[in-house]
Parts: sequence; C-alpha cells; structure tokens
Amino acid sequence: RAKSDPTGAICQFSEDMDRQSREKLQLVHDLRQACAAGQFELVYQLQNDITSLEPVGFEVLLRWNHPTRGRVGPGEFIPAAEETGLIREIGHWVLREACTEAASWARPFQVAVNVAPQQLVQPSFVEDVMDILLETGLSPERLELEITESSIIDDQAHTLKVMHRLKDYGVRIAMDDFGTGYSSLATLQTFPFDKIKIDQSFVRGVHRNAQSAAIVRSTLLLGSALNIPVLAEGVEEQDELNFLQAEKCASVQGFYFGTPMSQEDMRRIACGDGAEGRKQSA
Ligand code: C2E
Ligand code: MG
Ligand code: MG
Ligand code: MG
Repeated sequence: RAKSDPTGAICQFSEDMDRQSREKLQLVHDLRQACAAGQFELVYQLQNDITSLEPVGFEVLLRWNHPTRGRVGPGEFIPAAEETGLIREIGHWVLREACTEAASWARPFQVAVNVAPQQLVQPSFVEDVMDILLETGLSPERLELEITESSIIDDQAHTLKVMHRLKDYGVRIAMDDFGTGYSSLATLQTFPFDKIKIDQSFVRGVHRNAQSAAIVRSTLLLGSALNIPVLAEGVEEQDELNFLQAEKCASVQGFYFGTPMSQEDMRRIACGDGAEGRKQSA
C-alpha cells in the first residue's frame, strides 16, 4: 500500500513536483503573453496626511486579469516575473501607465510605484524613467519609487549611483517595508531615502502590542532625527490611527481609508474636489 511503501511515497512526491513545475511553466508562459495581451491593470491605494487626513498621493498596485484564473494578486506572480526577468517589461509598463495617469490628474498628488531589484540594476533604468517623465509630462517631484531593502543588497555601489542620479532629477525614493530587512539601519545610513514606509506587520495592533509600539516609536524617532518623513502602512483600525497621530507619524495608508481602488474611483478623487478621499465617519 502506498502509505507504507517508500517507493509509492517517492512516486507521489515526484508527481507532486511534476505538477508544481508544470504549473510554474504554465504561469511563466501566461505571463509572457499578459503584457502584450493587455491583461495587467493598476489599482490605486490612497496615502493620507496624518493631521488633515486629506489624500496626498496614491500607491499603484499591480493586478493581473488572467483569462481563466480571474484576478491574480502580485504575490502570486511577481516572484516568477522576477525570476524570469519578465518584471523588467512589466515594471516598465507599470511606470509608464502610472506616470501617464498621474500627469492627467487635476490635483498634484504623489504617485508611488514599486520597483523590483531587477529593474534597478538595468543599465537603462534611469534613462527609462527620464524618458517616461518627458513623454508623459509628469513633474519628477511627483514620482516616488518604492524600493525594498532586498533590492539593494546585491550591488550597493551601483544602486547608490542610480539613486543619486534619480534624486538629481528630482524623483523621490521611498524605503518600502521598513523593518523587515536584515539591516534596515545600515541601509538608511548609506542610501538617501526621502521617505520611510513602516511595514504593516508593525502597525497591526500597534495600540495594544508593546513590542510593535516600541518599534514604531523608534522608527518615528529615527525618521525625525534623520529628517525623513515616515508613512505607516496597513492602517486598518481607528485605534492604530490614533496611536500614529499621537506619535506624529507623517502619513498613513491602509484599509481604514479603503482597499486599493479602480482607476475610475481613483479619478473621482484625483480629478474631483477631493471630498471622497476623506474617511467617511459614521
Ligand atoms: P507593498 O508595496 O508593501 O504594498 C502594500 C500591500 O499591502 C498591497 O498588497 C496592499 O493591497 C496591501 N495593504 C494595504 N493596506 C493594507 C491593510 O490595511 N491591510 C492589509 N492586510 N493589507 C494592506 P498587494 O497589492 O497584494 O501587493 C503586494 C506586494 O506586491 C506589494 O507590497 C509590492 O511589494 C508588490 N507589488 C505590487 N505591485 C507591484 C508592481 O507594480 N511592481 C512590483 N515590482 N511589485 C509590486
Ligand atoms: Mg509598496
Ligand atoms: Mg510595503
Ligand atoms: Mg510588501
């Protein structure tokens, strides 16, 4: 019987492996066509000022409308896109789309775009960003590139050069998922970030968890000492917001203000009078 038969178990195991690698191959195959087939879509998440609670920007987040699997979140395909290098083409599309959109807004909000490590090390990356800014007419100060610490551990000297060139043009750079890397402090010391985004794992329940509170407080202190504004990610509850307000965090983002929204909903805020961007209090 399979249960006690070691060869049976091995058979089962390799069949499983087989299924997994077939699924992966299929995913990569589908990803290759997705860009050309226009299956990608951006959704937009509000970033609000902590004091006024007015919108100050949007982070763009990638979605894949797969022909048979339906809407697929980035967690399910970004890793494969990164491994295969497809992220370069996809990331370029995201940047162009986000800048085109932001350039058309009536209100001069920031637009924050996630950038993968493989994009950052592309020799043409800075030129690509500049070309997109020129073509779309978006002012560089309104573009914020979000990079995580893992993006810069590979080739620090090169990344530093890239960051300085982007900053010379006026493009902003945010450190995403702060606190989850293995040397966040060293990274902050070396790289010229314009914003720190505290990872949502520290924000969740910050008002009732002493450890999270200590980490968030220290990050805010650090930001203030280094003169780098801090945004808290993943704010879901009023109590978390209250804590962040009392501790003088600069801005916030999270489901409390709404899940990432469609282009249409986003435009109501970015092109309207902005009344929709505020959290409706019950
Ligand atoms: P991220 O850049 O840290 O983005 C924040 C993620 O947290 C988003 O997930 C967002 O929907 C989610 N989030 C925001 N507020 C809350 C909240 O209050 N509660 C909870 N539970 N979640 C919240 P999403 O859209 O699934 O994206 C996941 C990650 O995928 C992103 O993390 C980012 O690293 C990556 N990603 C998304 N779009 C792109 C892209 O265009 N390019 C690249 N390279 N990576 C992307
Ligand atoms: Mg991000
Ligand atoms: Mg993040
Ligand atoms: Mg993340």
